[in-house]
Amino acid sequence: MSAGLNLAQLEAVHYIGGPALVLAGAGSGKTRVITHKIGRLIEAGLEPRRIAAITFTNKAAAEMRERAKGLIGRKAKDVVVCTFHALGVRIMREDGAVLGLKPQFSILDADDVTGILKDAASGTADAATARQWQWLISKWKNMGFNAQEALAQAADDNERIVAQVMARYEERLTAYQSVDFDDLISLPLKLLRDFPAVREKWQSMLGHVLVDEYQDTNATQYELFKLIAGARARFTAVGDDDQSIYGWRGATLDNLKKLPVDFPTLKVIKLEQNYRSTSAILRAANNVIGPNPKLFPKTLFSELGEGEPVRVVDADSEEHEAERAVARILGLRASSQWKDWRDFAILYRANHQAKPFEKALRRANVPYKVSGGTSFFDRAEIRDLCAWFRLWINNDDDPAFLRAVTVPKRGIGHTTLGRLGEFAQQNRQSLFAALFNAMLPSVVPAKALAGLHEFGRYVNDLEYRARHTLGAESSRAFLMDWLGEIGYEQHLYAGEDSEKVAAARWNNVLEFCDWMSQRAGGQLADASGADAAAAPGETKSLREVAQTVSLLSTISEREQDQDVVTLSTLHASKGLEWPHVMLVGVTEGLLPFKLDDEEGRQQKVSDETAARLQEERRLMYVGITRAQRTLSVSWTRKRKKGREMVPAQRSRFIAEMALDQSTAREDPREKLKALRAEFARKAAEAKAASGAPSA
Ligand code: ATP
Ligand code: MG
Repeated sequence: MSAGLNLAQLEAVHYIGGPALVLAGAGSGKTRVITHKIGRLIEAGLEPRRIAAITFTNKAAAEMRERAKGLIGRKAKDVVVCTFHALGVRIMREDGAVLGLKPQFSILDADDVTGILKDAASGTADAATARQWQWLISKWKNMGFNAQEALAQAADDNERIVAQVMARYEERLTAYQSVDFDDLISLPLKLLRDFPAVREKWQSMLGHVLVDEYQDTNATQYELFKLIAGARARFTAVGDDDQSIYGWRGATLDNLKKLPVDFPTLKVIKLEQNYRSTSAILRAANNVIGPNPKLFPKTLFSELGEGEPVRVVDADSEEHEAERAVARILGLRASSQWKDWRDFAILYRANHQAKPFEKALRRANVPYKVSGGTSFFDRAEIRDLCAWFRLWINNDDDPAFLRAVTVPKRGIGHTTLGRLGEFAQQNRQSLFAALFNAMLPSVVPAKALAGLHEFGRYVNDLEYRARHTLGAESSRAFLMDWLGEIGYEQHLYAGEDSEKVAAARWNNVLEFCDWMSQRAGGQLADASGADAAAAPGETKSLREVAQTVSLLSTISEREQDQDVVTLSTLHASKGLEWPHVMLVGVTEGLLPFKLDDEEGRQQKVSDETAARLQEERRLMYVGITRAQRTLSVSWTRKRKKGREMVPAQRSRFIAEMALDQSTAREDPREKLKALRAEFARKAAEAKAASGAPSA
């Protein structure tokens, strides 16, 4: 496990007896240390299933699994490579029973949560309010509060109301045997803290824990990590304080400061060589991060040579900027050895910025994927419909049941669902199975029971019909009938404050139905690569189509390594690298994102604004350091502000990159001229030295 590692990396990989922190700048091989260390630990005799490597996203986990497989072969498959949340799921599935959770508990997504919150407030809250509550409840959970504790510390009336809603919300989750995203950290934490037997089990089970992107852990994740590591503290954390970009989600750099205090034997290892980027790119990165206060002093150098100067591109508008980016991709592809689309990435601050670039890429017939945004299948309306399909395919999918039975509302209230939930739990059945249990009438009143039975029969009936619906035309008719029957369009219009938004969502639904029908008809113009197994030209039943689609929606992070240009937010680009990166929208107000002092920059900046500016600067640093060979940074003279176009300026970060004007604007012809002059001068000197008479 020592090939392709420098001395400091080797030290980190071979130190397996105690706690280690690898603290180093971007592209210095921190993630590489983790993958190699997995191999080293196995070599040293640790069973693969006793090694946990924690990554920041599911995608990063998939990539690490691949890399580990490449290094150590099949044994890699038993290593626990996952996110903190997935580890939480694992702990809860195995040991959640002591908290009253059955192993098949359901995990709710953000939409499920808003729905339940609106319901818990007996319909007094609109979607926006519910989302605000969700945010506050999430914050409390991340601080380790339950509803009672939240109420006790509530600062004002609004917080008191939310704490009361939280209490009802928690009751409902228990009844539904469901947990939300925050629970995936806070419940395992509670479990390990309050139940010594469970804690000891996990501590002795996991022989070594590795954490990538450690700088972006939040306070609860850190507590969980500490409990898992235990007193033996066999762990390796790797991170970079300059790349901490999730402060807005509660990540805290304090976790970096706490580590040496909580683990006094911590070995800190620094890596200084960057293997990713050219010197020109690295210099720009170092210059940008320079003004930020330093938690740990670091230096980074590259031996990949100076490389091409970083290019600054100014554009009149976003459309113009997009055209220039596409032209650059096409130009580089035509004139260099970089022929694969996957070698190019366009990175921006916020999701909505992708649009003009998508349009320009489409016009030029360039294949691309948008990562880090909401994919079509993650949209609430599509997930609503998919919940029904999931229920056809797997009757035991409880979250799908809850979603289908409540969206659109069909007069089955939460009291009924709560009773059904309890009953199902007592009988160790899924909600759907419990529906037809002969004992259910003893706990649910007749009228509610009739509603439940009707729903159950309707789902079964739909499934039967879908099985016998073949081809595009009948599928389309089936889907439209069904949407009419459940009143989905009305549901959208009733739930949205803005008619325009509702119309857009309904349009998505129609587009989706069209897409499904086409697949049923075998007219598979499928650019998504969604099911490579299905051959075009074959007619399929709607149920078959629903099956692949419902699978898709649950594994939407499954992004294959397609040969396409990547469009991504800076946040989602963390840890990744591309030969050619175009950082776009590097315009004041976008990056840095609008700061409070926007109007008068000279005014004294508040501490909070200063902290936000520092985080924006780290974001810029992350963006620059994704580039391996070339980097271009572009900005626009005008930008959208609400509906208006307002004059805009280049981002202060462009000046901070301190690109040397002479190299940035270097013209190859000038360089040639300079070389010729130099050559002539040397020749003249040599001639003079040899004593020959000058002409
Ligand atoms: P980031 O901070 O962006 O997450 P990182 O520190 O995790 O970066 P890696 O992604 O592990 O860095 O490595 C960056 C690149 O350098 C990768 O392409 C990796 O394969 C390569 N690399 C790392 N270490 C070495 C080495 N010792 N020799 C050659 N290449 C290396
Ligand atoms: Mg990394």
